[in-house]
Amino acid sequence: RCMPAGSLAARSGHLEPFPFLGNHFSWVDSANRPDTDFPIRNLPFGVFRSGPTCAIGVAIGDRILDLGRAAQAGLLDGLSPDTVRACSAPALNPLMSLGREHWLPLRQRLSELLRAGGGHQAAVEPLLVRMDEVAMVAPANIGDYTDFYASIHHAANVGRLFRPDNPLLPNYKYVPIGYHGRASSIVVSGMAVRRPSGQTRDAGADAPVFGPTRSLDYELEVGFFAGPGNELGHPIPIAEAEAHIFGLCLLNDWSARDIQSWEYQPLGPFLAKSFATTISPWIVTMDALAPFRAPAFQRPGGDPEPLPYLSSAEDRERGGIDLTLEVYVASRQMRESGLQPARLSRGNLRNLYWTLAQLLTHHASNGCNLQPGDLLASGTVSGPLPEERGCLLELTQRGAEPIHLPTGEIRKFLEDGDEVILRGYCERDGFTRIGFGECRGIVAG
Ligand code: MN
Repeated sequence: RCMPAGSLAARSGHLEPFPFLGNHFSWVDSANRPDTDFPIRNLPFGVFRSGPTCAIGVAIGDRILDLGRAAQAGLLDGLSPDTVRACSAPALNPLMSLGREHWLPLRQRLSELLRAGGGHQAAVEPLLVRMDEVAMVAPANIGDYTDFYASIHHAANVGRLFRPDNPLLPNYKYVPIGYHGRASSIVVSGMAVRRPSGQTRDAGADAPVFGPTRSLDYELEVGFFAGPGNELGHPIPIAEAEAHIFGLCLLNDWSARDIQSWEYQPLGPFLAKSFATTISPWIVTMDALAPFRAPAFQRPGGDPEPLPYLSSAEDRERGGIDLTLEVYVASRQMRESGLQPARLSRGNLRNLYWTLAQLLTHHASNGCNLQPGDLLASGTVSGPLPEERGCLLELTQRGAEPIHLPTGEIRKFLEDGDEVILRGYCERDGFTRIGFGECRGIVAG
């Protein structure tokens, strides 16, 4: 039997901040393996296809607990009627709208139901489905999608390629930069992404041509879903921002660099990004992430302090998240040769210049209303080191320094048949590791 990493906590005397539910085994054996992304400490939410309809599920090891059927079976009795109803919905929006005072008791109940020795195995086991036997769908009806640009390393690396003497624009350290993305083309992990066509203009050419992009890229990002949201005209103070975040997922902001460089001035990205965005299916809650919180990014001396509406002591002390993020690629030839995907980069969400709370507060600061299920994203997560660069544009210096794959193939940008895989996980001594699962997409020609 495998030991849960969390048992170290008891021995080393670590105390986890509220709302820790304790280190427990689950009676679901696969949830106790040290390398699982989904131990009983995680309990991320997703939506899976169940017969003719969809159901909310919670990941536990290699299984999914069907919350709709759990509600039907009376296993959620005692929680608020709103919570029970929301768990029976075919998408997470109703649950997202309820807020943390409903999320926490649900998390507590799910932990009790899945805990070894809790006496619930006989009643709950028939409600589990095997993860590899069901298809995941989008976890929420995403009304709006906004993508930020919160990694100063990414902004500086990209800026340097286009403006060597002036990489970082003067607004960067004051205002979180973002653009309004396209919600309708967000797809869930596993769906193929078609290479888009668009206008591109070669260096030295007078006029553009229309055709398939020749510089298709991925962007390693973290998405976060809005919870209750705000009324139009009523901003969200920074102190309340995290209560408006339901949870996080991995996000690949596919980007066509040649289309982007021709179209982006003066209004920012448009068709270079709106053709597809892939998200991982499981939403890891802020409560699951509590043990992995970290101080916000340490601004170098000389950088301005954030304006007061983007600043709080709590956010400075705990606004960061120690989340390791990795990108892997597998070409068609690699898959046919039985080779494992090759890692292209490994970074950390702690490298963001702005915290998620600052991004959300800024978004609503003009009175713009966020709605349950809205998706916000970090922007490409890059760090200070070369191996922490979160997209090919940076890794290959716009194609000048191609990447070599284990087959001997080289890549400046993505080729048809390439599969991009994002992974994310949190590890800390004395605490059970949790993970995000995977965000996958194959480029189709
Ligand atoms: Mn992006």
